[in-house]
Amino acid sequence: MKELQQLVRPNIFALKPYSCARNEFTGEASVFIDANENPFDTSYNRYPDPLQILLKEKIAKLKGVRPSQIMLGNGSDEPIDLIIRIFCEPKHDNIVAIEPTYGMYQVCADVNNVEYRKVLLNADFSLSAERLLAATDDNTKVVFLCSPNNPTGNLLNRTEINKIIDNFSGIVVIDEAYIDFAGETSWLQSIDKLPNVVVLQTFSKAWGLAAVRCGMAFASEEIIAYFNKVKYPYNINLLTQNFVSERLDKVEEKDAWVKNILEQRDVLIKQLTKKSIVKQVYQTDANFVLVKVADANATYQHLMQKGIIVRNRNNVSLCSNCLRITVGTASENQALLNELN
Ligand SMILES: *Cc1c(COP(=O)(O)O)cnc(C)c1O
Repeated sequence: MKELQQLVRPNIFALKPYSCARNEFTGEASVFIDANENPFDTSYNRYPDPLQILLKEKIAKLKGVRPSQIMLGNGSDEPIDLIIRIFCEPKHDNIVAIEPTYGMYQVCADVNNVEYRKVLLNADFSLSAERLLAATDDNTKVVFLCSPNNPTGNLLNRTEINKIIDNFSGIVVIDEAYIDFAGETSWLQSIDKLPNVVVLQTFSKAWGLAAVRCGMAFASEEIIAYFNKVKYPYNINLLTQNFVSERLDKVEEKDAWVKNILEQRDVLIKQLTKKSIVKQVYQTDANFVLVKVADANATYQHLMQKGIIVRNRNNVSLCSNCLRITVGTASENQALLNELN
């Protein structure tokens, strides 16, 4: 890895961040007339903690990291955008990512006018570290990996990821939005030994909180400090902080949902395999399955007419005639299966 200072954009390195009113004060006080707030109590009249310390302490305990290794964002989409804005100089630096993968990496690269290089996965959706590394050059600042990958569903091979971490001199992002559904342990376990890795997780999938918009980035304290410098000061509102904090007290409920979804996934795969229009059900480590059918556009249209919406991935690289199907409730899955005859 290069020195972090060499990887960060010079303007971000030199940036003097906005200083929140309440940040400038430490200690005990009872009168807060420093932030132009309304003094009458609505429970939400005060600005929230810009660093969400109480919430991070809970997450840290659950994940086995330190609070200072966590950044919380408005969904994972916020840290994805921030990583690009922290490290990539528009029209100069570039990003390398696997293809096919989650669409937001390219959208954020395009918005920031940063070149986005796609490296095709193998035909079985496995990762070739060698080919990915060959696409990097001296101006490649960030590599995006997604494991389990969306839309293919598979975990990327650990040995291949390790080759990239060991041989790439910039930042390696591992998006683990679906890690709760996978049999493997998270890369978080080794975050202390991986100074160039950012792990992304989210409350949007297993935790059932997609509408709340709360994503997590885990990295070295040095990288997290840059996130904190660049993010909007009050990026996680207090309603979200409180609600996520309450949900974190109910880990068993999340675990029970995951268990149910995994059971339903097995049933769905078994039944899908029996359908004559289904050509292939790809191996999955996520809460969705990628399915190759005889004619994806026709099946997609048919399902839509019946009020069943799946994701048509026909136009995605390596995914021709593929539909991405989220594992629903038993009755939702049955409704789908009934229409696939
Ligand atoms: C769904 C998903 C996310 C989650 O995004 P949020 O902004 O946290 O809702 C992140 N990465 C991938 C690959 C996803 O599929």
